[in-house]
Amino acid sequence: MINLEQLCRKNIWELAPYSSARNEYAGREARVFLDANENPYNAPYNRYPDPLQLELKAVLSKVKGVPSECIFLGNGSDEAIDLPYRCFCNPGKDNVVAIEPTYGMYKVCADINDIEYRPVLLDEHYQITAEKLLAATDANTKIIWICSPNNPTGNNIVREEIAKVIAGFEGLVIVDEAYSDFSSQKSFRTELAKYPNLIVLNTMSKAWGCAAIRLGMAFASKEIVDIFNKVKYPYNVNLLTQRQALEALKDPFEVDKWVKILLVERSRMIEAFKMLPICEEVYPTDANFFLARMNDATKIYNYLVDNGIIVRNRHRVQLCQNCLRITIGTKTENGELIAALRQYQ
Ligand SMILES: *Cc1c(COP(=O)(O)O)cnc(C)c1O
Repeated sequence: MINLEQLCRKNIWELAPYSSARNEYAGREARVFLDANENPYNAPYNRYPDPLQLELKAVLSKVKGVPSECIFLGNGSDEAIDLPYRCFCNPGKDNVVAIEPTYGMYKVCADINDIEYRPVLLDEHYQITAEKLLAATDANTKIIWICSPNNPTGNNIVREEIAKVIAGFEGLVIVDEAYSDFSSQKSFRTELAKYPNLIVLNTMSKAWGCAAIRLGMAFASKEIVDIFNKVKYPYNVNLLTQRQALEALKDPFEVDKWVKILLVERSRMIEAFKMLPICEEVYPTDANFFLARMNDATKIYNYLVDNGIIVRNRHRVQLCQNCLRITIGTKTENGELIAALRQYQ
């Protein structure tokens, strides 16, 4: 069991949130809106959007199998990554623990919020034990970050080890499942009732093909979601985004279709990379990208840029020396990359 009041920053726990015009009337039928100093012309963009995005959450609740009140929506996952720091971590005092290497935003947000960031190095298979992560915590550790499938390595972290971390830690464990639609490992989203200290992140930016609309999700207990809602900007998800997300969610089968095609392309690309004399290793992946160790990543990266093809050079990342991270594109795009690499010398 966790003590949320003890985990939360005192000023946030005691915060009286801004009460917007739209908040105060919420839930009742109305015809005439003269409460928010809006312009009556230029519908529908003249009106402030729903601060709690309830229509969108009702649909997401069905698609994701999580109760509406356990869903937080933000301006990309970026907002859902920043908010836990602002809500739970006291600047200059508290710390967070994370696997290393991983997604860069956890550290950037820690630095912005003046929170000590404690990276724990993965092993040579890009895995980690619960024991090692828990050993890096102390009385001031508020959050453990686990990205699975992990970026940039691509692999899932062993599920049993994640479960052990959640069960064995009295602070919050945030499992970033941005790539879970591409993975065969079961999501932690469905385990929220079992773990009151668990937060799971999802995004519309990857499998759902909506990176431009900026919509990220956090799934957690109602108590945690209520704290996020209190601290977020009142209208953090704009109307255009809410509408476009609803549109995309109408067709989950389209997403399934994309994922299937991308997984076939992924296998094809991995086989092609393994045949390249300049490729030394392709690492196992559960995401829509893979990490490949090359003989000279930076030289190959620059060669590809000169040919109008951009991949991600991860050479300077710990445990990723000489690695390129390759996103799976369309069959044509993937073909262009392979053709260029075959001509490289
Ligand atoms: C791409 C990615 C995200 C998505 O971020 P958005 O702000 O939602 O676009 C989140 N986490 C990881 C690990 C990612 O790689």
